[in-house]
Amino acid sequence: MSGFVFSEKPISIERGEDVHLYDDSGTEYLDFGASYACTPAGHCHPEVVDAVKSQAGELLYAQASYGNATRDVLYERLAEFAPGGLDNVWLCNSGTEANEAALKFARSATGREKVVAAKRAFHGRTMGALAATWKAKYKAPYEPVMPGVEFVDYGDEDALADAVDEETAAVILEPVQGEGGVHPAPEGYLQAAQDVTDDAGAALVLDEIQTGVGRTGTHWACQSRDVTPDILTAAKGLASGLPLGATVCADWVADGAASHGSTFSGNPLVAAAATATLDVVENEDLAANAADVGGHLQDELSELPVRDVRGEGLMVGVEVKRGANRLLKGLAIQEGVLALPAGRTVVRLLPPLTATEAHADEVVDALANVLAEVSA
Ligand SMILES: *Cc1c(COP(=O)(O)O)cnc(C)c1O
Repeated sequence: MSGFVFSEKPISIERGEDVHLYDDSGTEYLDFGASYACTPAGHCHPEVVDAVKSQAGELLYAQASYGNATRDVLYERLAEFAPGGLDNVWLCNSGTEANEAALKFARSATGREKVVAAKRAFHGRTMGALAATWKAKYKAPYEPVMPGVEFVDYGDEDALADAVDEETAAVILEPVQGEGGVHPAPEGYLQAAQDVTDDAGAALVLDEIQTGVGRTGTHWACQSRDVTPDILTAAKGLASGLPLGATVCADWVADGAASHGSTFSGNPLVAAAATATLDVVENEDLAANAADVGGHLQDELSELPVRDVRGEGLMVGVEVKRGANRLLKGLAIQEGVLALPAGRTVVRLLPPLTATEAHADEVVDALANVLAEVSA
């Protein structure tokens, strides 16, 4: 019964190289979704692999209260990579834990309880992050989750202003909603969220777990909107698929943080992978590539007979009329292209940020073929 909560796919993946994956019979797939936004530098980037190999021979683990040069380099690298003013870094092992810490730090720094989140939001599956997640399917069977969360329509500035008051500890938002169907924040929305939280003395938490590390065309999606949150959370692509989450905070939040901890926090092996990943993203200018190739991909996709194409950089959603899952199966089995759903009618594309226009064209052709077949 191992893996019993996952719905298993009919492909067994054995090896990865840059934008390609290979199954156990040697069949090649173009990965526009299987890596879940976790491989910005591509699969098994040689610099990341070398960093992991070399750290593995030195030290796999020492608890975070002892200093370690590899971890210290990552603390510094992350603070440098983060938007200005956010240089207090807490490390954990997943996205949901990063959000869990964000909610805890916001509560202890403000002394308040209430959290405002958005409809369609996804923030993770532990009891706090799950409480800020919208979908009933993920939440209802596990109630009661953490109390005190109020939901507002994503993108509605007035609704947000009405919901936030002097009892609000945090507003938590994704700059582009991922799991909820790939919805970029409307112009001005995150700026309004910053103003509203500033006025109320609440923390603005931006969940950049899916949007971060270059995916949307800047290091973090908030940077293209000139917004700096009080807390930014990251995970997925941070360490090329090794388990790492980060909660990056402004001074006032860090100063007010109460006791928190994790056995694996900042373990050196994962830290080495993360520093190498951030180096590759920066040195190879992968955020700019994500903007260029993502723009091209969206242009070409909008020529197809689909309902809508939206997204930012290499985080793209294609809204279709009928079952996204049928299309995904056709893409994988007939076309050798792996992608993801985001709800029942959206095909979500989250390739490595090393993808080229030629790869994008391949995906567009594959989707055109599968769409033609479904409507035939
Ligand atoms: C994936 C994701 C999470 C949860 O991350 P896990 O590592 O699966 O716990 C939280 N927020 C967003 C926006 C995500 O995409």
